[in-house]
Amino acid sequence: MQALLSITLILCFLYILFAGCTRTQKPAQARLTVVATVLPIWTITEQVTRGIPGVDVKLLILPNQGSPHDISMTVAQGAMLEKADVLVMNGLGLERFLENNPALKSQSLQIIRVASVVDTSGLSIGTEFQTAHESDHEGFTVNPHGWVSPRQEIVMTRWLADQFALLDPTFAEQYRLNAERYVIRLDSLNFRFQGLIQQAPNKRIVTFHRAFDYLARDYGLEVVAVIENDPGLAPSARHLAELIQTIRESRPVAIFTEPYYPDNVAQTASAETGVPVFVLDPLETGPVDPEAYLQAMWSNLQTLGMALLVNRGR
Ligand SMILES: [Zn+2]
Repeated sequence: MQALLSITLILCFLYILFAGCTRTQKPAQARLTVVATVLPIWTITEQVTRGIPGVDVKLLILPNQGSPHDISMTVAQGAMLEKADVLVMNGLGLERFLENNPALKSQSLQIIRVASVVDTSGLSIGTEFQTAHESDHEGFTVNPHGWVSPRQEIVMTRWLADQFALLDPTFAEQYRLNAERYVIRLDSLNFRFQGLIQQAPNKRIVTFHRAFDYLARDYGLEVVAVIENDPGLAPSARHLAELIQTIRESRPVAIFTEPYYPDNVAQTASAETGVPVFVLDPLETGPVDPEAYLQAMWSNLQTLGMALLVNRGR
């Protein structure tokens, strides 16, 4: 009887110890669960919310799912969205995978569309591209890739910090401080792009898809042609013939491909025209690292430098 009592006491003691241990090991409850749709939106959200207690930022679309233009969401990603307090998305039709998602209609979900502050002037896109990007509420179609211009990324960063400051006023100052810290780093990119492109004798380029139009408009490059009007759909034989003709006539300095798309069309056009091929990364996907945007853009700056100043066109 005494032995039974001792065993019971030991078991009780172990239970209390174990329960206590599991309680202390449980992670602190997030005050704000934030879901960012794609990598460039996640990096900016991470930078703005860095170090703020209780803010848990998750990335919805993983890099191995490819470009946001041609993916669909998994069941697990749908569940992640349902648990979110805040959804940070680009908008302007980039996230077609969210179209008609019932979670977006939830009263408890705050939605922040960062591209709503991007300067879209002159960035309407042709009918061919409308298959890939929905019309906005005013009924015209605009290019969604604002983040590819550091100048637009700066505007988006400050505005995103203001939105978080409104949602979570206790830490308003810290969100804005984070934004300003990031802006200092974005601004050095901004000046370098400006300086490089200003001194380039030939500013004409060909890009893979319409991802670099904001960069071109803001810094003075001219995109004379694109390889794929609708990213993910291979160009027709007619489009390829027109592309080669345009390259022969306008003599761009380079044909730029992207890391996550095939470069066979660019190589064919290059072989036909003698214009060299380089790789520029629009950061639609890539490593899940808060520094990924800055790293990709510094690398793009170097590539552009090679193409615009070293190569100098023909
Ligand atoms: Zn794109």
